[in-house]
Amino acid sequence: MKATNRDAGGLSTTTGGQRPGYIWRGYMLDEARHFFGKDTVKRTLDHMAAHGLNVFHWHLTDDQAWRLDVPGFPELVKYGAIRPGSPYYGEDHSFDGVPYGPFFYTPDDVREIVGYANERGIMVVPEIDLPGHVGALLAAHPEFSCLGEAYGRTPYCKFGICDDVLCLGNDEAVAWCERLLEAVMELFPGEYLHIGGDEAPTKRWEKCDKCRARMRELGLAEPRQLQNWFTRRIVGFVSSCGRRAVGWDEIIEGGELPPGTIVQCWRDVKYAIRAAEAGLDVIMSPVFQTYLSIPEGLEDDPYRYRGWVMESNRRITSASLRAFDPRAQIPEELHKRILGAECCSWTEVTKTPAELEYKAFGRLAAFGAAFSNKGHRKTVC
Ligand SMILES: [Zn+2]
Repeated sequence: MKATNRDAGGLSTTTGGQRPGYIWRGYMLDEARHFFGKDTVKRTLDHMAAHGLNVFHWHLTDDQAWRLDVPGFPELVKYGAIRPGSPYYGEDHSFDGVPYGPFFYTPDDVREIVGYANERGIMVVPEIDLPGHVGALLAAHPEFSCLGEAYGRTPYCKFGICDDVLCLGNDEAVAWCERLLEAVMELFPGEYLHIGGDEAPTKRWEKCDKCRARMRELGLAEPRQLQNWFTRRIVGFVSSCGRRAVGWDEIIEGGELPPGTIVQCWRDVKYAIRAAEAGLDVIMSPVFQTYLSIPEGLEDDPYRYRGWVMESNRRITSASLRAFDPRAQIPEELHKRILGAECCSWTEVTKTPAELEYKAFGRLAAFGAAFSNKGHRKTVC
C-alpha cells in the first residue's frame, strides 16, 4: 500500500525553470517543546491565510515529545506524548518536575486541521524528525537507540541537543521508520513530507557495534556518511510513495542526495548555495532572520526568550521581516532553486497560546508582506 492521495494541498508547480514568485511561503510551529492545541493552530492558519502564507510546517516530534497518534503505532503517544517535567531553559537547566502532557493530535484532529488549512489555500507539511531529535520516539522504542533498553522509557527532558539518536545499524529500526512514514503520509495528503535531519550527533554511532558494522559493510569512512546513507534511503522511500522529502540543511553533509530532495537552510547561506549548486531546491529559514524565537525587542515585551538568543543581542523586527529577501546572497543563476522561505517558532520557552501569538503573529504579517511587496506571491493551485 502506498500513500498517494494528493488530491488536496499541492502547491503550484513551475515550468521551464522560471519562478516568477515564491511557491513556498511558510510558517513552522514547534508543538513538541510546548503544545498549543487545535484552536491555536486554526487561529494560526486564519492568520497565515490573511497574510498570504501558504505552507504550515508542523513540527510534531522531537526529543521532548511526540505529538501525533499514528494509526498502528499507539506506543509513540503512550510513551512520547508526556514527559515527567521540563527544564527552565536559558537559566540554570534545572528541572521543574511537573508532568507535561499527555498532549497529542488524533487522526481525526489531523483531518480537521488539514481540511481547515486546505479551505484557506494552505498545505500542511508534517515533520517527523529523524535520525536525531528522537528522544520521544526512543521512549517508545528504546531498542532503536544505540544504547538499547538502557535508554529508558521517558522522552529527553532537557532542551538543546541530545546525544541519543536512532541506531542506524539496526535494520528493524530503519524498516520501522519507513512503515511509520507511510502511515504518516496516509494522514497528510500534501505533496511534501519533512524528515528533519538536523542536529544528529555521531557520538553514539561511533561507539555502537551495529553502527560500526553498518559503516564497514557500506565502506564508509566517516560517521556523518551514515546519516547520508539513511537520508538517501528515506528520501527514496518517500519518493516511491509519490511525495517529496524536505530536510534541514545538515542533510547535505556526508554525501550526495537524490534529485528532488528539498533542503531547508537554517544555518549559513553557504549551505543553501551548496544545495542549489547540486541541483536541489531550497527553502530559506536563516536563523537570525526568520526564527521568531528571537526577540523583536519591544520595550514592553512581557515574555522570555532563549538564553543564547538574548546573549547574541540579535533582534528580528517586523521591519526586518518586511525587507527579508529569500534570494539575498544567492548567486543569480541559482535563484530558480529558491522555492521560498519560512519563519519558525521554536517553543522551548514559549508556553501558552497567548505568548505564542504575541511572539509570532505581528511578525508573520510582516513576513507575508515581504512577498506581496516584491510581487512575489504565487497562489496555490
Ligand atoms: Zn547504533
